[in-house]
Amino acid sequence: MSEITTPTPSPSAPKKMEDIVALCRRRGFIFQSSEIYGGINGFWDYGPLGVSLKRNLKNAWWNDVVERELIGPDGDAVHIVGLDSSIIMNPKTWIASGHVGGFNDPMVDCKESKQRYRADHLIVLGSTADNARLYAYIENDEEQCAAATKGLARYEKRDALDPSVHMLRSFMVLTAEDRARTVGPHAKEVGTLTEARKFGLMFETNSGAVRDESSLTYLRPETAQGIFTNFWNVCDSTRVRVPFGIAQIGKAFRNEVTPRNFTFRSREFEQMEIEFFIRPDSANEWYAWWRDWRFNWWQQIGLAGENLILREHDRDELAHYAKVGAGTSDIEYRFPFTAPGFGELEGIAHRADFDLSAHATHCGKGDKMRYFDQEKNERYFPHVIEPSAGADRGTLAILCEAYTTDATRASGVYMNFTPRMAPVKAGVFPLVNKDGLPEIAERLFRDIRKKHVAEFDEKQSIGKRYARMDEAGTPFCITVDHDGATSGTATIRHRNTQAQERVALEQIPAFIAERVE
Ligand code: ATP
Repeated sequence: MSEITTPTPSPSAPKKMEDIVALCRRRGFIFQSSEIYGGINGFWDYGPLGVSLKRNLKNAWWNDVVERELIGPDGDAVHIVGLDSSIIMNPKTWIASGHVGGFNDPMVDCKESKQRYRADHLIVLGSTADNARLYAYIENDEEQCAAATKGLARYEKRDALDPSVHMLRSFMVLTAEDRARTVGPHAKEVGTLTEARKFGLMFETNSGAVRDESSLTYLRPETAQGIFTNFWNVCDSTRVRVPFGIAQIGKAFRNEVTPRNFTFRSREFEQMEIEFFIRPDSANEWYAWWRDWRFNWWQQIGLAGENLILREHDRDELAHYAKVGAGTSDIEYRFPFTAPGFGELEGIAHRADFDLSAHATHCGKGDKMRYFDQEKNERYFPHVIEPSAGADRGTLAILCEAYTTDATRASGVYMNFTPRMAPVKAGVFPLVNKDGLPEIAERLFRDIRKKHVAEFDEKQSIGKRYARMDEAGTPFCITVDHDGATSGTATIRHRNTQAQERVALEQIPAFIAERVE
C-alpha cells in the first residue's frame, strides 16, 4: 500500500442547526412527516440514509446490551434478555405506573400571543428594582432570549449578570404579583401569561368497536412499563436470576405541548430502555456501574468530544420514585440549539422497587408477587436501575457531531460518522465508463457487498461522486483507474483526511472489513 496524497483539512466552522436540517432533507436523512400536506408538528420520517443511521445506532445498542459479553462490577458477565411488548396495554398499567393522573407537564398560556409554553422551560429575567418589568423567555432559545429581554442581557452572558441588579429564575416560582409584571416570550404587554396548568401527555385511543370510557386505551408514553409487566413472565419462562436485565427498543408517544428543535422533542419517538433488576442492597454499586458504562458507550459510538457530559441530578429535581436511592443522572449532549447548554440523551435512574410493587398492588396479588431469591432464601421486590435512552435524540446527536464543514472540498461539508455508524461503508467507482473499468469496479463492489453496505456510482465527475459520499458520511471511496486495471489495484480515499492509498483489489474487502467491524 502506498500513500499518494494528503490534503490539509481546513478548520471547521461553528455548526448551524439550519444547515444540518437542510443537509438531512437534501440527502435523505430526515424528512417532515406527510410533507406534501404541509407536515404535522412533532412527527418525522427517516429517509434512506437516515433509517440506516438510526438502525446502526439501535443495532449497536442491542448488540452491546443484549448479545455481546458485558462484564459487570463484580467481574461476572451481565445477563440481559430482550423483549418486544405491545404499544397498547391494559389501561390499568398506566394507573399503576402513575402516568394516568401524574404524567403531565405544567403549561402556561399567553393571552396576547395565543402561544402555549412549558412552565418549567420558561426563565424569567429582570431587574431587582421593585415593580420593574420581568421578561420571560424559553430556556436555551437564543432568538427568544434576545427578543424577550430586549437587550437587557443575553442568555449566554447570564453568569456575568450582576446579582445586585439582575435576577434570573424559573417561571415556576413566580408569585401572582410577579406574573402581573412579566412580559411573555412573544408578547408586548405585561401580565398576559396565565398560571401554570397541567396538560395530559398521553395519546388516547379506543380499542374495539364501541367508543366510550370502557374502551379507552393509550399509546404507551414509554417502553419501560411493558418490561415491568413482563418481569414475572420472563422469570417463569427463562433461567434468569437477579441480578439480570430486560432490554427493549420501541416506539413511545407523548403529546408534547411544544414539539421543537427538529427531532429532539417529537410526539412519536423511539426509546432504548433497560430495566436492570437487582438486590436492594446492591443499588449503589450497580447504579454507578451503569451510569459510567452508558456514558462510555455513547463516547465510543461517536460522541467522544466535550459536547457530551454526564450530569448527576440534584436531589430536588428527582422524580417521585427516585427521591431516595442511589441517584439519577443524565447523559447530555450540547446540540447547536441548546448551546451553550445541553439536552438529555439518556437518563439513568435508580427506581427502587416503585414499579414492580405498584403493579403487584394494582393487579391484586400483592406480596405473592415478590421475587424468591434461592441463593439468599428470601422474598423481595427487586430494585431497578433504569438506563433509558432515546434513539431519535441519539441519531440527532450523531448527525450534529458528525457535521463538519471543510472549505477544501467540493461539498463544503462531510459527515464524520464512526465507521460503525456510517450508513454506507464504501463507495466504489470506475474512473471512466469504458476500457473495462466498470466491470472491474462492479466485481469489487459485489464482493464488498457480501458483508458491508456499499454503493456503486458511475455517474458524473469523480469529484462530484466524492462529494456525494462525503455528505453521506461514507468512510472509504474506492476508485478503479487505468493504472489499477493493469496492476490489479485501486485507490482508496479516506473521507476525513482525503488521503489516498493504492491497495490490491483482492485485499480491499478485507481492508474494509478490518476498519468497519
Ligand atoms: P424531557 O425532560 O426532555 O422531556 P424526559 O426526562 O421526560 O425528557 P424520559 O422520560 O427520561 O425523558 O425518557 C427517556 C429518553 O427518551 C430521553 O432521554 C430522551 O432521549 C427520549 N425522549 C423523551 N421524550 C422525548 C421526545 N419527546 N422526543 C424524542 N425523544 C424523547
